Amino acid sequence: MTAPEIKPPVELVVASGKGGVGKSTLTAVLALTLAEKGYHMVAVDADAEAPNLHLVLGVTQWEKVDDVYEGRLAYILEDKCTRCNLCAEECAYGAVEIKDGKYVINPYICEGCLTCSLVCPPKAIRYKFRVKSGEIRVAKTGYGFTLVSSETMPGRPNSGKIVTEAKNKGKELLGPSGVLLVDAAAGIGCQVISSLTGAQLSILVAEPTLASLSDLKRIHKLTKHFGIAPMLVINKYDINQDVLPLIEEYAEKENIPIIGKIPYDPEVPKALATNKPITIYSPDSPAAKAAKKIAEYVADEVLPQWRTWWAKYRPKKPEPYVPVVLRPGQITSTRER
Ligand code: SF4
Ligand code: SF4
Repeated sequence: MTAPEIKPPVELVVASGKGGVGKSTLTAVLALTLAEKGYHMVAVDADAEAPNLHLVLGVTQWEKVDDVYEGRLAYILEDKCTRCNLCAEECAYGAVEIKDGKYVINPYICEGCLTCSLVCPPKAIRYKFRVKSGEIRVAKTGYGFTLVSSETMPGRPNSGKIVTEAKNKGKELLGPSGVLLVDAAAGIGCQVISSLTGAQLSILVAEPTLASLSDLKRIHKLTKHFGIAPMLVINKYDINQDVLPLIEEYAEKENIPIIGKIPYDPEVPKALATNKPITIYSPDSPAAKAAKKIAEYVADEVLPQWRTWWAKYRPKKPEPYVPVVLRPGQITSTRER
């Protein structure tokens, strides 16, 4: 079958407010199905702090690895340091440590905020600039499509920027037409914001638990802010018949189409353990059949007419975005209030 040419490209983000709800499992099945149906497609693993889509897709070698450099890291000139302790007192991140009587800066904690050098009387603090903060990796999968994967170095900030770089690489490889399939990180942090920026469609994955419902509302709010048309997949839908109706009611009230439900299936963790998509590891299992049906629906019904779909399900007015600014040292625990 020849899939329709999608020009200009469309961005479809698979996201969930909560981790461990089957997002990457579904993304892998979706990617395989789109490739099978002849879609020109690039998959992007945008979970830069814990990338694992390449494992599910059996990628063991990268064709290309680009380092991403940015930011700065402080370090102390030992011979100039008078051990006055001011930097340790002022570093809001607790990055200044005393080891064997010497003041040192923990590179995994330092955010490069400059404060310590401003308070240091003998000017003993210097910076390394353009520190390696992550990698963008590219591989051709054994299933015939290209995967771009992002990974943040431990302790480095700005994983959102690395996700943006990974998406840009994906768009470059995609060219003027096709589908950019993005597997977002869990949650609503900066990586997820970068994943959703510029996207038109999103598949939200939730489980029938109260925690997942609460997280679904949060991620849905973000998609509304970005004017994205969402779809909902309920994974392990049969594990909690009390909460399932609450998720369905929320979807109906918010005009989110439920495009499928996947049953709990012990074959799924076994497939993950063998680094295979569930539809390859156990194609006749209930979860594989349900995930495949969802992927075929997206390929056959949503993507060919994605503009109509977007117009029908996009938020009628964007959700205002009100960031909550938490500064180190200003967080009060509920017990102290
Ligand atoms: S640059 Fe900022 S985060 Fe790093 S050690 Fe200095 S005060 Fe702490
Ligand atoms: S503020 Fe400067 S002199 Fe004082 S402990 Fe830190 S690095 Fe040493």
